Amino acid sequence: MSEPIFDRLALIGLGLIGSSIAHAARRGGLAREIVGYARSSETRETAARLGFLDRVADSAAEAATDADCVILCIPVGSIGAVTAQIADAMKPGAILTDVGSVKGSVIAQAAPHLPDSIQLIPAHPIAGTEQSGPEAGFAELFDGRWCILTPLPGNDADAVARLRAFWEGLGSDVASMDAAHHDRVLAVTSHVPHLIAYSIVGTASDLETVAESEVVKYSASGFRDFTRIAASDPTMWRDVFLHNKEATLEVLGRVTEDLFALQRAIRWGDGDALFERFTETRAIRRGIVEAGQDTDRPNFGREKPPRA
Ligand code: NAP
Repeated sequence: MSEPIFDRLALIGLGLIGSSIAHAARRGGLAREIVGYARSSETRETAARLGFLDRVADSAAEAATDADCVILCIPVGSIGAVTAQIADAMKPGAILTDVGSVKGSVIAQAAPHLPDSIQLIPAHPIAGTEQSGPEAGFAELFDGRWCILTPLPGNDADAVARLRAFWEGLGSDVASMDAAHHDRVLAVTSHVPHLIAYSIVGTASDLETVAESEVVKYSASGFRDFTRIAASDPTMWRDVFLHNKEATLEVLGRVTEDLFALQRAIRWGDGDALFERFTETRAIRRGIVEAGQDTDRPNFGREKPPRA
């Protein structure tokens, strides 16, 4: 095994993403020591029991002390407050990075608290599940998944290269882009689809003509797949929408227009318009499978469809 990339790695936030980084960093021998901290004593105790850290710290500042790299694995809305807690404890030259699903806001919240000697290099692994908490993590989460870095113009090239090597060591393919572009891309591929899932699952359960028990009992694959996405963590997703407001609203406007076009096609019996659109979308799905981003097995590779 090659030399560890970091002597001491600090993880602040020990939920799905934080615990998965710990498992995968251990698997790859990427840090000599992994220290972690989470807000509640319950999560810290669970992390200690599961044993994916070398040491559990009593505060965010204690975790960050002497770390070569600190990764904030917390909801986007908490980045500013936690950066303020750790900024003075971090050693000069250390990397401060994160895993948040929005990047422009992370930079705006964190940068004002940091001296020039700290390398702020935001990152976002495009990997996740609808589970949360320290017990949800696993070492393979990032394997073959993209991680997007959004380095800042003043970043030290060597620090960026080390962080890139770290994410590759966790199993990811790594891409780089600026934060504003990241936020637009993710609004299309992730944020608005989640919003639509939250909306449609809520609508179905509100419809008075369909009893709630029927929604559950007869849930066909379309609805069922939306419910998986709509079960994602409410705190995380609240923060995503509050912190990627412009891009989300822009994409949502386009989606709304397209929905009206489909509504019109249905109303006027325009089968050609529907067929054309569904043929285009089928090709997009094929592209995703060919790129290795999903399985082509029926029912997303589930063993068998759940029975009512
Ligand atoms: P999670 O499982 O809910 O874990 C969040 C962790 O952050 C918990 O350990 C929580 O501590 C801790 N935390 C929250 N506020 C804190 C604070 N002020 N100080 C210290 N710790 C704090 O969430 P997650 O899924 O790992 O998501 C974490 C980040 O990853 C989010 O920014 C999200 O946007 C990003 N992300 C998520 C996914 C996904 O699919 N889940 C994918 C890519 C990126 P307690 O347990 O004590 O409350």
